Amino acid sequence: MPVSSANNTQHFDTIIIGAGAAGLMAASKIGQSGLSVLLLDHASKIGEKIRIAGGGFCNFTNTHIDGFDASSYYVSENPKFVRYALSNYTAEDFISLVKKYQIPFTEKHRGQLFCDRVQKASSKDIIEMLLKECQLGQVNLKKETTVEAITKTASHFSINSSLGCFTCNHLIIATGGLAIPKIGATDFGYQVAKQFGHTIIPTRPALVALHFDFWEQEGFTELAGISLPVEISTNFSKKPKDRITFDEDLLFRHKGLSGPGVLQISSYWVPGKTITINFAPKVDIQTALITLKTEVKYHLERAISELVPAIPKRFIQFWLNRAPFCEYLATPLPEIPHKILEQLGSSLNAWTISPNGTDGHKTAEATRGGVNTKELNTKTMESKLTENLYFIGEVVDIVGWLGGYNFQWAWGSAVCAANAIQEKDPHLSK
Ligand SMILES: Cc1cc2nc3c(=O)[nH]c(=O)nc-3n(C[C@H](O)[C@H](O)[C@H](O)COP(=O)(O)OP(=O)(O)OC[C@H]3O[C@@H](n4cnc5c(N)ncnc54)[C@H](O)[C@@H]3O)c2cc1C
Repeated sequence: MPVSSANNTQHFDTIIIGAGAAGLMAASKIGQSGLSVLLLDHASKIGEKIRIAGGGFCNFTNTHIDGFDASSYYVSENPKFVRYALSNYTAEDFISLVKKYQIPFTEKHRGQLFCDRVQKASSKDIIEMLLKECQLGQVNLKKETTVEAITKTASHFSINSSLGCFTCNHLIIATGGLAIPKIGATDFGYQVAKQFGHTIIPTRPALVALHFDFWEQEGFTELAGISLPVEISTNFSKKPKDRITFDEDLLFRHKGLSGPGVLQISSYWVPGKTITINFAPKVDIQTALITLKTEVKYHLERAISELVPAIPKRFIQFWLNRAPFCEYLATPLPEIPHKILEQLGSSLNAWTISPNGTDGHKTAEATRGGVNTKELNTKTMESKLTENLYFIGEVVDIVGWLGGYNFQWAWGSAVCAANAIQEKDPHLSK
């Protein structure tokens, strides 16, 4: 139970700022261990990112995280930092919780688990589950609360808020990243980290659509709505082994490119560098066209359609209407110079373009960068600079791939901090 002092300041074992995925998970675990927990959030609705995640069906974890080196699914200055948290609290652990609450779920794509729309489950069930877990731990949850200042004495933290002053032994910062400010994202966590001497790895939008300066001028807006499977890669390193490649769908939009493949590559893209898209990953177009040239008298459009049936006709027509291919639209294949076929092959197998920006935090799904992991304990998420201060979830310099990896990091890092506090807290006697 919280304790009130003479000046009416309530004392808690742990205060958590940010009642999103990580904050709710940490609060429930700490509360259920018998410690008093105050969970503060400035928003009027709790768990908004969980609610909108996965189109309302929350891709809450990914089964591929188990049994693999989890660090390859995360982007950070120090991706290995995730290893302990994700092997300590696994996808299977979260699935057990979801099963306990009988929330129907389904696997959609490559280990991605979503609430099952067919059986009328949705993201709201995950939020309710976490809130019930918090109730079981008698967590004191306060919405619409602004934290004005945090100070630390030798024995405790003091939190000045719009609800008054609170003190605690342990303080957890779980205020997430900068994505979608409209539903409550702020840079609060980074400011607290800086206050306590931490460095912040520069932040930028991740899992976000990409923009290109040639888009409108070269008529790419015409392709809006077309989606097709591609292989998409970064080019920031000359060594092929360092290239990051995703084999996913791409979506043309009025403003640039989106779709799972582009969102994934955006987390790795370095401003000023190019990306390469292969529209026909399984076919070497140049070689295939040169071979075909000796066999048939097709025009280019038919040849490409037959070689790569997955490429929509509207896309092929647009591509061939560009120079220099447009001059050969009505020319039978055997009469088209090799040089043109080579150029067409390389433009389709390795279209190298330079994004000039992104949609920004307004629509990004996550934030790259954040609290420097080198200054946090990998097993407990505790600050190495300030005792009893913890950072969990997306505020840390960890961003996962699309597909449930970010929530699993939120759950896993939260459990690390919760376990550490339970082990440490001398008041654990309830
Ligand atoms: C559109 C969208 C879809 C997504 N879909 C998925 C998905 O399907 N699967 C997946 O794994 N990940 C998904 N993500 C990413 C995932 O939502 C986040 O990585 C995850 O929510 C991070 O958890 P967190 O607890 O660290 O932060 P959050 O869940 O963002 O919670 C942070 C909390 O802190 C509060 N807060 C912020 N500033 C303050 C302040 N100053 N004072 C008090 N409180 C504050 C916020 O109101 C919020 O409640 C999606 C993200 C978006 C934007």
